[in-house]
Amino acid sequence: MVGKFSSWLGYGFKTFILRQTLPYLFGMVITDKCNLNCFYCESKNSGRYHFSFEQAKNTILDAHLRGHRSLYFTGGEPMIWEDGGHDIEELVRIARDIGFLDVFIFTNGTRPLSIKNCNYIVTVDGPKDIHDQIRNNSYDLVLNNVKNAVTKNIFASITFSKANVQYLRQFVEEVTCTNLFRGISFNLLTHRPGMVRL
Ligand code: SF4
Repeated sequence: MVGKFSSWLGYGFKTFILRQTLPYLFGMVITDKCNLNCFYCESKNSGRYHFSFEQAKNTILDAHLRGHRSLYFTGGEPMIWEDGGHDIEELVRIARDIGFLDVFIFTNGTRPLSIKNCNYIVTVDGPKDIHDQIRNNSYDLVLNNVKNAVTKNIFASITFSKANVQYLRQFVEEVTCTNLFRGISFNLLTHRPGMVRL
């Protein structure tokens, strides 16, 4: 806790007092492998992105050296990333050990949320029946994993598409009623507007 506070203090001193311009957030598409098949997704299993362990470790170290202090992993599905026996939990540990203040994982929530010292952003693509249509009947599994997660720092995220855009209110009410999430974020497919327009 003291380490985190002094790190915040150091960052604040450099940016607010010394007026240095430093980067903060750093994102890594750690893999494009995914165990789901959402209809609007172009990036899954394209074979274009998959970090080796050495690449991932060096990229994290370089980002920290450049001044980044918040890191997120996305995909594909980051929770299924592995390379030669190394997994995403190890990358989270490396990031935290070198001084990243926050680590986030964007996940479809189908794997246990068992990694400590990180925050999760879990996609819930609408009310249960809509989510299940888009995401291979995974709603109950996802909510069960959220319920049993090792952390309370979990946010829900909805990706708007033609299939769910008219269910926004219902989605917000249903997710709020679970009392499982700290907040909700909205992912607009701005690069693929045809997937959202009715
Ligand atoms: S879970 Fe994410 S990466 Fe996987 S198919 Fe759906 S949108 Fe694509």
